[in-house]
Amino acid sequence: LVPAGTVAGLALALAILLLARRQMSIANALRHALRKDEFFLLYQPIVELATGKWVGAEALLRWRRATGELIGPDLFIPIAEQTGTITKLTGRVIRLVQRDAGRFLVDFPGFHIALNLSASDLRSTAIVDLLDRLLAQTGARPANLIVELTERALLDIGSARKVISALRKRGIEVAVDDFGTGYSSLSYLESLELDYLKIDRSFIEAIGTRAPTSQVVSHIIRMADAMGLRMIAEGVETQAQADFLIANGVQYAQGWLFAKPISFDELSRALDGTLPE
Ligand code: C2E
Ligand code: CA
Ligand code: CA
Ligand code: CA
Repeated sequence: LVPAGTVAGLALALAILLLARRQMSIANALRHALRKDEFFLLYQPIVELATGKWVGAEALLRWRRATGELIGPDLFIPIAEQTGTITKLTGRVIRLVQRDAGRFLVDFPGFHIALNLSASDLRSTAIVDLLDRLLAQTGARPANLIVELTERALLDIGSARKVISALRKRGIEVAVDDFGTGYSSLSYLESLELDYLKIDRSFIEAIGTRAPTSQVVSHIIRMADAMGLRMIAEGVETQAQADFLIANGVQYAQGWLFAKPISFDELSRALDGTLPE
């Protein structure tokens, strides 16, 4: 008979092995998908709360497999991050933004496209070169771009600081994504040059409820104000949430109340004629 501890140990090792194999097979599928051009972007409008105007859009990655199956980023981004495929994927995102929005941004210099970067994208300034190339090849302005960095990506403060200052020197704006879900302290954020703070959906959901989290939103807003950061509320689904945000001085929002992520064609058709030159 084998001791129970050994059995548990073997089961654990097997589970880890299976998980690793599943990740590797998804990582292989991702590399294949890059070659086959199976990725595209949807754009979720960012709304100025005071006017309801669409002032920008966040680029959100989608994977359409040859089978027609649509895979969301929550599934494949973490695996791409763990297996090192993410930098290639980010490069693809930048090229897709260039293709979709390049001309549009030249015509509408006031419009912003926000794109998501991962922690590994900040390990070198190669990312800055990619964005420079996007700007050079399209004629879009640096102020057309917002880069979204999660608190987790900011944890490696040395490299984050380098990339952030290179971006901001060019006039590209920087947002802290999913704010409130990570580990960053106030003093930590204060030591970085940032433009926007995106309030995570989990806090917006709590607005108007009795959950203790609902108190946190007001604190976050006061803090961002004190730091001179503009705010973008994420996942706004109800008018009551929007009213609260407006009353508390939050400038921008995203969410199903205003618009779901849509194709760039739909976005530009909806905006046609409504934007100032
Ligand atoms: P995120 O950056 O926090 O993006 C916001 C997510 O909230 C999007 O999910 C969006 O579709 C969803 N959302 C927007 N409004 C609402 C709402 O009113 N209600 C609800 N319930 N959800 C809403 P999505 O597109 O599935 O993206 C999930 C995450 O995947 C993103 O979260 C981001 O962390 C990551 N991601 C997406 N595209 C990229 C990318 O190009 N690069 C990287 N590194 N990560 C990406
Ligand atoms: Ca984001
Ligand atoms: Ca977010
Ligand atoms: Ca989020």
